[in-house]
Amino acid sequence: MSEETTTVRPFTSAAFDQFIAEHKLMASRCIKCGESYVPPRAICPKCHSEEMEWVETSGKGKLAAFTVIYSGPTFMVEQGFDRKNPYVSGIVELEEGARMSARITGVDPTKPNEIKIDSPMTVDFVEFGEGDEKKTYLAFRMV
Ligand SMILES: [Zn+2]
Repeated sequence: MSEETTTVRPFTSAAFDQFIAEHKLMASRCIKCGESYVPPRAICPKCHSEEMEWVETSGKGKLAAFTVIYSGPTFMVEQGFDRKNPYVSGIVELEEGARMSARITGVDPTKPNEIKIDSPMTVDFVEFGEGDEKKTYLAFRMV
């Protein structure tokens, strides 16, 4: 994708989700003060500038909190997660400073004592479904 098509997208959650489908974790960055936001903001909350640009984040961060989910939302149940097959959801603090809630992969939900706070994490994209039904979900994998 060219730089141009990236920058003309509006700073909306729909555009953010479109980037996720392309396996890109993007932030909106204020051209005036340099602050980055994930999920994106169209107006900078810090300096109120409307001059924003899309930037790809490093995708790296650390685990700030997590919980094992036995009864998840519908889209997780559809992926086969339930009481017998739990998954881990967590809060990851990105290097850029933003905090994101997402599924945590690369960990064993049955051994939560082995999951350590502050562990280095990297962005992961989980795909589910076929063809037009295919969806990409943001996740973070323990490094
Ligand atoms: Zn700003």
